[in-house]
Amino acid sequence: MPKSPDVRALSVEEALRVVLEATPVLPAEEAGLPEAAGRVLREAIRADRDYPAFDKSLMDGWAVVAADLVSPPRVLEVAEEIPAGRDPAGLRPIVPGSASRIMTGAPLPPGADAVLIVEDSEPIAGDPATVRATAAVRPGDNLARRGADLRRGDVLLEPGRRIGAPEIAVLAACGRVRVSVGGRPRVAVLSTGDELAPPESDPPPGGIRNSNGPLLSALARAAGARTRDLGIARDDAAELERMIGEGLRDDALILSGGVSMGERDLVAGVLRALGVEILFEKVAIKPGRPFTFGRRGATLVFGCPGNPVSCHVVFEVFARPALRKMMGFPRPERRPVRAVLTAPVRQRPGRAGYHQARARFAGGGLEVEPVPTTGSADFAACARGNALAIAPADAAVLEAGFEIDVLLLDDHEDR
Ligand code: AMP
Ligand code: MG
Repeated sequence: MPKSPDVRALSVEEALRVVLEATPVLPAEEAGLPEAAGRVLREAIRADRDYPAFDKSLMDGWAVVAADLVSPPRVLEVAEEIPAGRDPAGLRPIVPGSASRIMTGAPLPPGADAVLIVEDSEPIAGDPATVRATAAVRPGDNLARRGADLRRGDVLLEPGRRIGAPEIAVLAACGRVRVSVGGRPRVAVLSTGDELAPPESDPPPGGIRNSNGPLLSALARAAGARTRDLGIARDDAAELERMIGEGLRDDALILSGGVSMGERDLVAGVLRALGVEILFEKVAIKPGRPFTFGRRGATLVFGCPGNPVSCHVVFEVFARPALRKMMGFPRPERRPVRAVLTAPVRQRPGRAGYHQARARFAGGGLEVEPVPTTGSADFAACARGNALAIAPADAAVLEAGFEIDVLLLDDHEDR
């Protein structure tokens, strides 16, 4: 198949722009509360009523008229007991000289303008109809007026926001048990190479286990996608055509292997034959230069290099932002953070270096150290790191003490 070895490599920024411009945002769909977690909200959520919806006590104690307790102690007549959940309409009014026992969250009776906390009261032996108040209160103490937290119609959550646990609580509190969320991309993962054997097998002489397929599936799922592992395709045009054709039915197809310059690197040719428009085939990134990106209709195709470390980097830098954009994230890329290098980074200038690294908070800030690696085939290097340290394309050496950009990976706190 014809090759074009002189195609210019795009910069990482240019390539990411091409990827994101080609990436559609999936249509919104409805989700129930537990499934909405981790998705992107696609509608504005407003308060359905005032919160609190009635004047309520914030403490266990006594609903009182504050003017009665200007100079404690004072004995008050007990009107009634008001547990949380009582209908505010049926409450006995508090008149001067009286008090009702009230629980946290219970409605405040008419006439009361403060709550005396229970610790500031004493029972009167043998007389449950009275109570002794031992401290002063001011009007408004220990209570919340209707609407003090939120007004009906207030916007509580904006569209575009990721739904985490606090957002789930807001939705539940407002009775929104079904909400509009961004779609979850369906991602097919295909590993290519004659040398590949399934992970559960003992590879024959010359073979290796397929680690990229499970790697890419796990990364795509962690990004929020649902995945379909298509397994292994041989370096054979007919087999590739059949399996790639299958993968093109999903929102994205993530391939690994077969995108370099070797005789058996057939992927780009097969993609073209299947009508995939190739948008670029090279990026000035290390590792990961032979990264092929294309689309057919609304389906994106990521042809990742076969080397496992390259695969990891290409997914993180290009595929993950695309999947996040599909899901509706307004800023789908990871935001780099600055960290101080604790060991030098060396590289041959020309390509932006994405170094597997360990980041940790130390003293006042973030430190980062590249992990030892023998190169892009060193699959164990990815597991040694928790971050990618980015060295600009024009840098040859970044000394210890330099500040550089770092991408913290999903589970960096646990690794
Ligand atoms: P390729 O991009 O097909 O030339 O592959 C580059 C290197 O990555 C070769 O050493 C392959 O054996 C290795 N490789 C390719 N695919 C996988 C895979 N799915 N799992 C682990 N290593 C792979
Ligand atoms: Mg190969």
